[in-house]
Amino acid sequence: MALVLHVDGDRWRAHLRGTVERQPGLVPVIKGNGYGLGLHRLARRAQWLGVDTVAVGTHHELPELHQRFDGDLLVLSPWRPFQPTPEELEIDPARVVHTVGRLQDLEALDEQGRTAGRPVRVVLERLTSMLRHGLPAVDVRDALRVVGDGRGVRLEGVALHLPLPVTRPTLLTKPSHVPEVERILSDPQLADLARFGERATQVWVSHLTESELEILALKFPGARFRPRVGTGLWLGDRGALRVTGTVLDAHPVERGDTYGYRGRSAPRRGTLLVVSGGTSHGIGLEAPTGEATLKARAASIARGGLDAAGFVRSPYSVGGKQRLFAEPPHMQVSMLFIPHGAPVPVVGQELDVRVRYTATAFDRVEIS
Ligand SMILES: *Cc1c(COP(=O)(O)O)cnc(C)c1O
Repeated sequence: MALVLHVDGDRWRAHLRGTVERQPGLVPVIKGNGYGLGLHRLARRAQWLGVDTVAVGTHHELPELHQRFDGDLLVLSPWRPFQPTPEELEIDPARVVHTVGRLQDLEALDEQGRTAGRPVRVVLERLTSMLRHGLPAVDVRDALRVVGDGRGVRLEGVALHLPLPVTRPTLLTKPSHVPEVERILSDPQLADLARFGERATQVWVSHLTESELEILALKFPGARFRPRVGTGLWLGDRGALRVTGTVLDAHPVERGDTYGYRGRSAPRRGTLLVVSGGTSHGIGLEAPTGEATLKARAASIARGGLDAAGFVRSPYSVGGKQRLFAEPPHMQVSMLFIPHGAPVPVVGQELDVRVRYTATAFDRVEIS
């Protein structure tokens, strides 16, 4: 009676190990809904992988992790003065590495560290073509001046958050992130980060491919690249993952029978299938099926097509085919329409469901 994420344990763990071995210095990203697997589970898995650091999205996620993973905790979201301190979250501040993207925030942390008599660990984020967070080039000199003697803040490197890897270059997209990284790291201000200690030579990067990382490692032998990887690690081998919902009920209907919250009438003979998984799990309406042109719609109406009746594709598959929602998903279940003639699964049968893992709340995660 549930939406379940099934994980082929051996295959998944082999993929995790392989990914970490291929990308030395990899930092697992553990944030949000834990990529569908849960923050707590990923934290324990990171411990098992033996990495020295994990990255969380926001400081709110630290309490879920810090007792399950015992290394460093990098917070990806840049520090702001209005967020709680590690002490307030009852987390050892010596384990937390803050990302800093504004000069005034760096100054505030420097002040905090000096007052506490213990430097705050920071990574300086440089603004990239993402234009999300980070210091613009003109602020780098002042930022390094604030870092200064390292008494208030201890520099743990520079961070670059890049757009997603380019899979299909167009005239408007760059085929590789290498030139952008090169341009940022060639800033003479960043040439000698080693003067702030060995850890300051770390370059925390996101969304670089393995080959881009190899090229950059050759171009910048003095830098230690730390790829921050979430999707490619936890969800990188989709073949190890399978999502199912369960058939809970099945009702034969004739054309014209009414059903559902909205009293719709069945456009043709078939079966209404009630399956587990609804809006509370993140099951949403997918793109409408069929063509949008008037002519195509008219043809579809003539055929008695379900798309003409306004039915929308669901993420559930029956008999290898993605089926249509009979109406928008309910909170915990969804109603599908199986046209007459197609095989009708029995109550209790599991159906494959296509979901966005990062936006789905599973009832259960089963790792074999
Ligand atoms: C979420 C995030 C990542 C990980 O992204 P994936 O696409 O899941 O690998 C890396 N860096 C930053 C700054 C992020 O916010």
